[in-house]
Amino acid sequence: GNTHVLELWHGPTSAFKDMALQCLPHFFSASASQLREQGKLENTFLILVATSGDTGKAALEGFRDKEGVQIAVMYPDGGVSDIQYKQMATQAGSNVMVWAVKGNFDDCQTGAKNVFGDEFGEGMNMTIELRDVSYTYAGKYQRVTAVDTVSYTFQSGTMYSIMGASGSGKSTLLSLLAGLKLPTEGEIAFDEQPTRFMDRSALRRDTVSVIYQDFNLFPQYTALENVTLARRLARRDGETEQDIRARGLDLLDQIGLSDRAGHYPHQLSGGQKQRVAIARALCMEPDVLCFDEPTSALDPELTGEVLRVIRQLAGRRTTMIVVTHEMAFARDVADRLIFMDGGVIVEQGDPRQVMDHPRMERTRQFLSRCANT
Ligand code: ADP
Ligand code: MG
Repeated sequence: GNTHVLELWHGPTSAFKDMALQCLPHFFSASASQLREQGKLENTFLILVATSGDTGKAALEGFRDKEGVQIAVMYPDGGVSDIQYKQMATQAGSNVMVWAVKGNFDDCQTGAKNVFGDEFGEGMNMTIELRDVSYTYAGKYQRVTAVDTVSYTFQSGTMYSIMGASGSGKSTLLSLLAGLKLPTEGEIAFDEQPTRFMDRSALRRDTVSVIYQDFNLFPQYTALENVTLARRLARRDGETEQDIRARGLDLLDQIGLSDRAGHYPHQLSGGQKQRVAIARALCMEPDVLCFDEPTSALDPELTGEVLRVIRQLAGRRTTMIVVTHEMAFARDVADRLIFMDGGVIVEQGDPRQVMDHPRMERTRQFLSRCANT
């Protein structure tokens, strides 16, 4: 109960993660012992590192014999060099552990994530289950079945990425998940409770939030007002105006915009507006955050700052369903990749697996078209 699980993310060599890893244990331990002295910290820490290389040595050494810390490194059995193995296996320290994992680096990472997920998953193992869900737009002359007999279960604490060509039904699927549309066939259940018996406006407000590519901020309100507006309208018991304001400021701080609280949308860049839209959604504490092509309306140089915020949320195991064409991002950050075509889920699975070894011809064609643009 008193153990926190810290997750250290991987990154390319240029991300200076080795250097960060050498500094981090010292910063971490210094502030932890200071907090302990002040009586503000009673927790112990378990630090898990999934590695296929030198990161393991740096982490083990840095956290060696630090008070209140256990450090464990998981490396792929047979996936490290002899020197790397010796460096890790011979590391001294009463609190260090080294585990060889049967499998590859991804399995190590999945192992670490599962531990993390289990710790935080308690009491919030929400699922959204689609059972043979279809949605048909009925036009005057023709009907379009945008989502066609889809069955799929979304789990909490997981980030899903949805890809597929334009018109494949991605946006319609998000609208169904958010309760903005009701299935014309089939059923959606939250925690096994069919949504058609639930209050749809409550579902929208508290459970699922959708963030669209064109932000939809209110131009006459400041960033802070935009973030807090819905929460003020649906104030919770015992919550004061100051509470909500503090919450809004904290969220702006988390997305790196604390100095823009009083700015109006026209004074913000596209990337900043989209980050405000994310903070606005978070202000309602939804169980699930959906994004519909959140960076499609942005200039390429602004997509990074929005993806960084989504990545940060993924690191906290926020349940997210993200429609995106950013292949590298989905590959790196998503837990599952869902590929849609013609209203059906053609293929789904581990993003790297799906991208590197697509099983279906339609997925293969889509991916090669994306790679060529
Ligand atoms: P995606 O988000 O993958 O581009 P959509 O869910 O927006 O796909 O659309 C799926 C299909 O439903 C498309 O064929 C589209 O033309 C059709 N469609 C979407 N919205 C409407 C609508 N309001 N009325 C009629 N057809 C629609
Ligand atoms: Mg769409």
